Amino acid sequence: MVVLVPIEDIGPKKRIELKDLLDTMASILGKWGVDKPVVLRENEVIEREDVLEALRRLGARYVPVKREDEQDYFTPLDHLGFYDEIKPSPLRVFNSTLELLYKNWPTPLVRLNSLSKGRIRVWAKLEAYNPFSNSVKDRVGWYMAKRYVEEYGEIKKLYEATSTNTGMALAAMGAIMGFSSRLYLPASIQKASDVLLKALGAEVVRKPKSLTVEFIDEVQTDAERDGAVNLNQFENDANFEVHLRYTAKELDLQMQSAGIRAKAIICSIGTSGHMSAITFYFKNKLCNTVKIYAVQPAPGEAIPGIRRVETGMKWIRWTKPDGVVDVTRDEAIEGVLRVARRDGIVVGLSSGAVASAFQKLVEEGVIDDGDYIVVFPDHGFKYVEQLQAYFEKRVCNS
Ligand code: PLP
Repeated sequence: MVVLVPIEDIGPKKRIELKDLLDTMASILGKWGVDKPVVLRENEVIEREDVLEALRRLGARYVPVKREDEQDYFTPLDHLGFYDEIKPSPLRVFNSTLELLYKNWPTPLVRLNSLSKGRIRVWAKLEAYNPFSNSVKDRVGWYMAKRYVEEYGEIKKLYEATSTNTGMALAAMGAIMGFSSRLYLPASIQKASDVLLKALGAEVVRKPKSLTVEFIDEVQTDAERDGAVNLNQFENDANFEVHLRYTAKELDLQMQSAGIRAKAIICSIGTSGHMSAITFYFKNKLCNTVKIYAVQPAPGEAIPGIRRVETGMKWIRWTKPDGVVDVTRDEAIEGVLRVARRDGIVVGLSSGAVASAFQKLVEEGVIDDGDYIVVFPDHGFKYVEQLQAYFEKRVCNS
């Protein structure tokens, strides 16, 4: 007989190659359960450590366990406490600002008037409802710091390359957990970022480059020289994992509760963390029936937080989107204004790029009747400089 055992009660955590872990996760998500339980032998040898570790990383509270000679039995994921982590405080009382992050999820999913039309219904996942950077990156900053502390112990000093949001999230983690942060930003990023990061107590270093990925090696070298921790969001699997364990799962729960059967999900790409995890989760769970579109800046265009696929991204290798849409900076700003002037929320430029990409897909005839999800990574307050420049240009040109 298979019994459900609290996951903490069995075995220490094991290091498993990401590729193997992903294969097991894909199989669990694809079958939506486990048909080969973990086997416990008398002398406490554990077989199927990959299943144990995959369930642990997916956030299951229980694991199906059997003794050596007993029969296998299919255990659905829903029975394993898979959604239990996503239970917000209904009256919004939190013991700390850290809880305000992870106990406040899910971030809202809201139907947009600006992008919906007739029988096309568009739902936006609003990542600005995260407390530190008002962005999707709070999840990553929290999880990378948490995983590091669990594995290696305290962080005293942290260096990271960022286009602002991961920096704000990590500076906030530093404020809460008691470490100092030095954040390296490309010259192309808005000046407001320095002010916000300094307000959070971080040191800011500007690099004369246009993309963050152009100086990650330098940051790594500086960190080694100064004995600082470099979590490196571009390579750190905690980035992908946090979106698999929370962002994608939340979206799944929200879609189920609202009866939404999404035909496509549209996400922007920077490190590719959230798009890749959402793709991996839904492609496996829904047997490839949902399409995923990635949004990147058009050649030569700069949109803060996102970049082109060919600049190299780690997780996209395992999770190819169905299409990639190019958007110019002006089109991204027009997307921001479209949402702001119909739905009343000022989202960030990458969100505007996603809104604009959705419109392009409609115009190309790729979108037909049904439900669609757009992921909006952050709020517009950081981008007043770009919005102002756009307004001034429009006045000059008219
Ligand atoms: N949009 C904004 C504003 C961002 O800051 C980022 C990442 O920094 C992204 C989109 C892309 O998210 P990801 O790194 O998960 O691809």
